Amino acid sequence: MGLKEHAAAIRERVARTAALAGRKPSDVLLVGVTKTRSVQEMQEVASLVDAIGENKVQEAQVKREAWGDHPTPPWRLIGHLQNNKARRAVELFDAVDSLDSIPLAERLDRIAGELSRRLSVLIEVNTAKEASKTGMAPEAFPALLDRVLTLPNLKLEGLMTIGPLTDDEVRVRQAFAELRGMAEDARGRCGLPLPVLSMGMSGDFEWGILEGSTMVRIGTALFGPREYKML
Ligand SMILES: *Cc1c(COP(=O)(O)O)cnc(C)c1O
Repeated sequence: MGLKEHAAAIRERVARTAALAGRKPSDVLLVGVTKTRSVQEMQEVASLVDAIGENKVQEAQVKREAWGDHPTPPWRLIGHLQNNKARRAVELFDAVDSLDSIPLAERLDRIAGELSRRLSVLIEVNTAKEASKTGMAPEAFPALLDRVLTLPNLKLEGLMTIGPLTDDEVRVRQAFAELRGMAEDARGRCGLPLPVLSMGMSGDFEWGILEGSTMVRIGTALFGPREYKML
């Protein structure tokens, strides 16, 4: 099977799961995760997904330079962003889905202002409670939320999480349900719609959709296993 068939199979699973949850397939956006993939593979997938997800600024920059004028969906940064790469990230990406600290929020806001644009962001929460995971601790979320809401050049769209890396459905769904609950609380606090819940990857996106995900981030199920090689 090629990329087209893989993408169609994923759309089909998304539609089936959304229906089970009483939701529309179009409520769930498909982010094609293209880390380690070539520009050619990315351009093949571009018309099959709603957005592209990259997790490293440097890798995304190299690929953007090689992109040419091929049509492109929005690019979203889904990996941890270091403060010193914030400017590059604002220049390269349509959205930063991995906002995880007040200093990073302040810096992105200042740079977006300098570039006369409004940057879409998701706050990434660590619901898995594993030391190796990125994202902020749930306890620190309200303070970051309050700060982000005062920053004029950031547009907060919602929340993102990486579930626990386990095939234990109960644990994974608990983590996703926790994120959904945090988004509901946040809507109550700030009155904004915060429509996006980015949760679910190749191994757990159906559980994500059942728990309210509006954005799934899929790499392996589209392209096959990743080989980490120098680009
Ligand atoms: C790599 C990555 C994904 C995609 O993972 P797959 O299991 O290949 O679908 C999703 N989200 C983030 C943040 C990633 O880094």
